[in-house]
Amino acid sequence: MSGQAEHIVIVGAGAAGLMAARALARAGRVVTILEARERCGGRIHPLPAAQFGYPADAGAEFIHGDAPVTRALLREAGLASQLIEGRQWSFNGATLSREDRDDPHEVELHAVLGQLQDDLTVADFLRRHFAGAEYAPLRTSIGRMVEGYDAADPERASTLALREEWMGGGDHTQARIVGGYGRLIDFLAGDCRRHGVAIRFGSVVSAITEEGGALVVRSDGGDVRACDRIILTVPLPLLHDIALPSSVRARAAAAEDIGFGNVIKILMRFTRPWWRERAEDLADMTFLLSDQTIPVWWTRYPDQDPVLTGWFGGPRTAELDSLDQQGLIEAGLDSLAAIFRLPRDDVARDLVTAAATNWAHDPFARGAYSWATPQTRAAQASLARAEGLVLFSGEALYRGRDMGTVEAALASGLETAELILRG
Ligand SMILES: Cc1cc2nc3c(=O)[nH]c(=O)nc-3n(C[C@H](O)[C@H](O)[C@H](O)COP(=O)(O)OP(=O)(O)OC[C@H]3O[C@@H](n4cnc5c(N)ncnc54)[C@H](O)[C@@H]3O)c2cc1C
Repeated sequence: MSGQAEHIVIVGAGAAGLMAARALARAGRVVTILEARERCGGRIHPLPAAQFGYPADAGAEFIHGDAPVTRALLREAGLASQLIEGRQWSFNGATLSREDRDDPHEVELHAVLGQLQDDLTVADFLRRHFAGAEYAPLRTSIGRMVEGYDAADPERASTLALREEWMGGGDHTQARIVGGYGRLIDFLAGDCRRHGVAIRFGSVVSAITEEGGALVVRSDGGDVRACDRIILTVPLPLLHDIALPSSVRARAAAAEDIGFGNVIKILMRFTRPWWRERAEDLADMTFLLSDQTIPVWWTRYPDQDPVLTGWFGGPRTAELDSLDQQGLIEAGLDSLAAIFRLPRDDVARDLVTAAATNWAHDPFARGAYSWATPQTRAAQASLARAEGLVLFSGEALYRGRDMGTVEAALASGLETAELILRG
């Protein structure tokens, strides 16, 4: 580094990359972000307001729990959040009912979880402690949470991580940012630019090499850039696509011990909120869980937009791999017709617009977010170390309770920047 400010290249302009860039640029570093897409935000993906009547989120939508880094940014940006209230419903294949959250075995589950010393997978945990027929509904609801919410595979997912998520205390509410997550990204990107960060779109990084003691980043299309340090914030599956110096590749291997799940998200805007016209009082319905192909749905409540969002997470999303966007929308309509016992054509007739994303098909995400296996904490500790001049950052490296979230990405980006600044 010859007396000039250190030049840091950050690969990825998602929440982690922007957060790291801002902190480093504020501290006087020269920062360039190389981003494969033509936009910032990564897995935060706001759709044009004109399509749904508000900037709907095709990716991240909720703030989970305390989320201190996110909330501090919201305050700084002057953005408001709105708490999700209302009722959860479920459809068991025959009837719609208010979700009964209290399983008769919940106390027993918590007691066994509380005593657990050594980690094991969720599937092994259930086989060992809750194998009896009487526990079948409990097994189903845990499977639903692990697959549907964490997008994880119960055969590999960590029970201790799950315990932390469910019983670790703290706030378990959910909220939305008024105006959507895009506003947070706009604020961060604007602040980055104000502090001199250069953000280069359409720059797909393909190789990092060490040449004569200097670092060189190569992108598809021939862009070659020398720098002093690199932060890689790409989603875990994308790490395989980037050629790395052998010592960095050896460290990156730890990522195999971190799970990475998929989500299919479908947004549908209708002419009117027809689900509120039913005999059941669904006026304040938020979430609806079902056994259908697209199993989870939610409304915009307390906002009144006539929009339903469908969600399918976990390994079984692979069964819909052959469906394109239109095929996913059709599957969503079928599921809604079955849940609400309506002729499919009636539901389809009211549809104004729809957007469906199978995140496994997104070339720069290849899935939705990470989840913990029993080996993940050790893998994260090794990946997050400031070892050498190439650092790893992003949601998958977050060691707090809510892995796989925007909060995780923001906190990880900040942690990486602080590691560098502490020297
Ligand atoms: C459908 C869905 C719903 C979600 N819902 C929520 C939610 O409600 N609440 C919540 O908190 N979280 C949610 N998440 C998770 C959240 O979106 C992510 O955890 C977070 O946005 C990840 O940020 P990141 O910066 O780590 O990664 P990313 O946002 O993926 O950023 C990495 C960037 O790297 C870029 N990139 C990839 N490869 C290359 C390359 N070779 N060269 C250059 N650039 C590259 C990508 O384009 C991307 O912009 C959801 C995610 C999905 C997919």
